[in-house]
Amino acid sequence: MLVLDRTEALKRMLVIAPGPLHTPTVLCGTRERNRDVSGPWALTASQLMANARADVTAVRLEATLNPLLLQCACPECRSAIQHRIRAIVSEWLAVRVSGVGLPHVFRPHRLIRWLVN
Ligand SMILES: [Zn+2]
Repeated sequence: MLVLDRTEALKRMLVIAPGPLHTPTVLCGTRERNRDVSGPWALTASQLMANARADVTAVRLEATLNPLLLQCACPECRSAIQHRIRAIVSEWLAVRVSGVGLPHVFRPHRLIRWLVN
């Protein structure tokens, strides 16, 4: 039961995409974000979720998510991705320590729709 709770906690963290993102610019608008942020995040997150295990390490999570930074050309979006990765890693460490603790902030996001379809 505990194991399921922790796996569930990990999934809930992953469905929250990086954000809020900056206002669209000429160089980085909706198309670029879908290509460089939302799309790759949804793909990587769904792969991680499919293989989600309660004993996955924070290092492994970081190693899986960090490559998303490489395919993002926009510094502001990259920073949003980096913040989200850090938040997930620290939330995951907190869950591991407390065992049953879940992250406090579960914000619904349109990414959820992508992932459940
Ligand atoms: Zn951007």
